[in-house]
This record gives sequence, C-alpha cells and structure tokens, in this order.
Amino acid sequence: MRTGLQTTLAREAVLEGVGLHSGAPCKVRLRPARADDGIVFDLAALSSGPSRGRIRACIDSVIDTRLCTRLGNDAGGSIGTVEHLLAAATVIGVDNLLVEIDGDELPILDGSASPYVDALEEAGVASCQAPHRRLRILERVELVDGARSIIAEPYDGAVIEVSIDYADPAIGVQTVVLDLSDGESLKRLKRARTFCRLADVEAMRKAGLSRGGSLDNAIVVDGDKILNQSGLRDPQEFALHKALDLIGDLRLAGAPIEGRIVAVRPGHDLNTRFVKRLLERGGACELVPARVSGSGALGEPAGE
Ligand SMILES: [Zn+2]
Repeated sequence: MRTGLQTTLAREAVLEGVGLHSGAPCKVRLRPARADDGIVFDLAALSSGPSRGRIRACIDSVIDTRLCTRLGNDAGGSIGTVEHLLAAATVIGVDNLLVEIDGDELPILDGSASPYVDALEEAGVASCQAPHRRLRILERVELVDGARSIIAEPYDGAVIEVSIDYADPAIGVQTVVLDLSDGESLKRLKRARTFCRLADVEAMRKAGLSRGGSLDNAIVVDGDKILNQSGLRDPQEFALHKALDLIGDLRLAGAPIEGRIVAVRPGHDLNTRFVKRLLERGGACELVPARVSGSGALGEPAGE
C-alpha cells in the first residue's frame, strides 16, 4: 500500500555483470538514500582510482544518447546505460537511491530490467519522512521529429503507448499500450530485452561499441529471423523494450509522470529532448503530492 511518503531501499543490493558497450566487468551496489536525494550515481565509493564524484539522475546530467543514455558531471565522470535501472526504480516505486558503481557503465545483465527489479524487490522498500510527488501533465506537449514523435497529455493515471516500425520483418510494426498501475503491464515491461540487428553488431564492434553484447543479453535479429534459440519472451518484446527505455529516460524529469504518453518510434535522443521540452515549457507540468492508492500502481513500494 502506497503511504503517500517517499521511499528508498530497506537494505543494500549488489549486482555484477559486464557493460554492454565496454565489455568490462562492472559491479553496482544499490543503497538506501535520504528523502529528496532522488537517484544519485556515486562513481567514487567502489573505485580505487581518482574520484570521479557523483552524478544526479536528472536531465541536465545527460551527455550522450547514442545507443544508451549516458550521464556525466563536471569532474569528467560519466555513467552509461542508466535507463534500465531508472525504469526499474520507477516501476517498483523507489524515489531515493544511491547507486555505487565501479565502472563507467551499468551492467547489461540479461538485457532487460528484470534483474534490477528483482534486486530492488528483494532488498525491500522503506518509507522516508517526506511526501512522495509526481510530475502531473497539465497540458498537451509534443515533440515531432519527422516520422518520430512523443506527446504528453493530461490523464488521471499513468499510461504509456509506444509504436515502432522497423523494416526488418522479424520486428515489423508493433504498438503496446501499458497502464502502469496494472501489474500485468509491469511484468511484461520488466522482462523485455534490448535488441539489435546482426549487421549492426559487426558495425558497432568495429566502432569499439557493444563489446559485451551477446545472445545472452540482447535479442539479435537478421531479416526475418530471431537468432536467439529460445526466441522471444513476448510477441511484442521489441515495443515493450522501447517503452521500458522511455520510462527510464522520462525518470530524468525528476519524478514519475502522471499523464498519458504516446510515443512513435522513440529512442534515447528523442526521449531526452522531450523531457527537456516538457520541463522548459512553463505551465506544462507541476510536481504534486501523489494520491494514496491501493496495491499494483506505478510507484507502489513492493513488499509493504
Ligand atoms: Zn534498453
């Protein structure tokens, strides 16, 4: 039951894996944080090298959106692939979180948000003594870039609609509509893995990217074929993953969004540009105390 108070983790959680782009081993320790801290990445606590400081998960910290969302600070520190953890914290309903990390990228794990959601749920959620707040959409805001677009509209709840359109027959055209107060939507979202084309894997490797990518942490498609032997986890896994990425990127607005989001062919660049537009447009949104609600809603603390 949501109490109307902010939340953090009840205990620490540790995850280890490799970075999708660096291929390097990386470890992340998720720790409780204080009320109003938000989500903060600490690049110093687990690192033996020179301190690279802390980075707050907010739109002003974004420094790169090619392939993943990367945040940086003035000390030259940066952290990539933050979107799956930010999405996990959002769907579990963790407001304040300290993320200690020893690399410059969060581990890709199985390519979905499931390992992060599971770790957060296992650690448990505790209340902080400050009111939980949401970013309520007050008027329609849109960002259109050719055939790609994101629109936010006022809505009494949190609904996200994502459409994708790929030439690859294995992906094709998909649309998902997700009510984030619905447990079934959250189960589908968290399990959806990142994906790429076989041809792109070679190109990215040549560019020094995706060194940690494999069939264990990404869906790989080649024309009309899915190369992972176990196939898809959901017939709409591609659109679901784009929705997951969008939820993670939207969290950079500083609070979970209350409204209806409609995205056509979203990506990290479009997503983060949209967050900037939303926050810069005076009167388009406001931070409001969350309504106290029953179980299953977005932002529900798990295990309470
Ligand atoms: Zn992703």
